[in-house]
Amino acid sequence: MTITARLDVGRNASPFLFGEEAAAVAEVLESGQYGHTDVTEEFERRIAAFLGVRDAVAVMSGTAALHTALLAAKVGPGHEVVVPSMTFCATVQAILAVGATPVFVDVDPATLCVTDQLVMDAVTDRTRAVMPVLFGGRAIDLSRIRPELAARDIATMEDAAHAFGSRNGARRVGATGDLTCFSFGPIKNLTCGQGGVVIPRGHAEAATIRRMRMLGVVQSQAERAQTTRYCVEGFGLRYQMSGINAAIGLAQLPHFEKTAATRRGLWRAYRRALASLDGVTLVDVDPDRSVPHLCQVRTPHRDKVHARMKARGIGVGVHYPPNHLQPAFAEWRRDLPATEQVGRELLTLPFHQHLAEADIDQVVTALGQALKTVGAASCARS
Ligand SMILES: *Cc1c(COP(=O)(O)O)cnc(C)c1O
Repeated sequence: MTITARLDVGRNASPFLFGEEAAAVAEVLESGQYGHTDVTEEFERRIAAFLGVRDAVAVMSGTAALHTALLAAKVGPGHEVVVPSMTFCATVQAILAVGATPVFVDVDPATLCVTDQLVMDAVTDRTRAVMPVLFGGRAIDLSRIRPELAARDIATMEDAAHAFGSRNGARRVGATGDLTCFSFGPIKNLTCGQGGVVIPRGHAEAATIRRMRMLGVVQSQAERAQTTRYCVEGFGLRYQMSGINAAIGLAQLPHFEKTAATRRGLWRAYRRALASLDGVTLVDVDPDRSVPHLCQVRTPHRDKVHARMKARGIGVGVHYPPNHLQPAFAEWRRDLPATEQVGRELLTLPFHQHLAEADIDQVVTALGQALKTVGAASCARS
């Protein structure tokens, strides 16, 4: 069987362009305005309208979104932040950036998301924020614990880097009232090349974050052009989103319904194909409500299956090696049995919008063969 090139893009994911992005970028380049511009502000308005929220603040990356959200919620040294170990390392680095202490929690192995119980068991008097990760795009319902967390002055910040477009009941992720952070990096469901957005809790917090992403300077570009002074009103970093990046996201956004349909279709095609395969468990992203970001299976023979699939030219990956076992985060290590188990078993299958449903049969056939050669029980697919 010859494997299609679409299945080997060097990794399991690949950016997808709709065709209008290059012209949109060229227009910004020709304008001579490369910083935070009206294009960035237009992107913020369109994202807010899409999500059904009043404010969206654009920043240069998802990591910058998480960092500014923590700063805006005044999380700092001496504070604990409850975070799943099963996430991209960016979530943890953002917590360290403000000098707070990450308190790693386990996840439900079926969803790779935290549960109410896991979060509440980790909360102490020093907890200042909880940072659930909407893994694979899965929207999680925090409504039962949100009031108690709020009563204890604990901010809820959703790391929704995987979950742009997913729904929580009738509302989109981002519209639930929590601080929410999105990433628009190269391989996310919507891309700006690089970029992120923070959904603040009201106008005052939006203004704080707008100031922080601009080195603490309040003046607009237009105002600055007119006067001899500018005023640094507080702490801030160079975290703005360039109009060059915003233009890419603006060109992508009108096509998002296609993105959602394609990703749901591909994920369901995987689910159908995998149903006939023994020896693997699919991680459920709840595609009826989410816009799936990853397609992952669990197998006890992960390392061998990974090597065999790679050798056949199939771009598989691992999301993620648990953070509490990373050398950089050793100080905050604790026992997280479910995370350690899934950390050995997770395998990410090729999942991006260049794929056709026929490609998925190739992946699942190759997976069945790999499982057979490593001695795992599997069905007659060959
Ligand atoms: C991508 C990602 C981030 C960071 O976003 P960047 O735009 O890459 O900085 C944070 N958390 C998770 C779960 C991610 O997947």
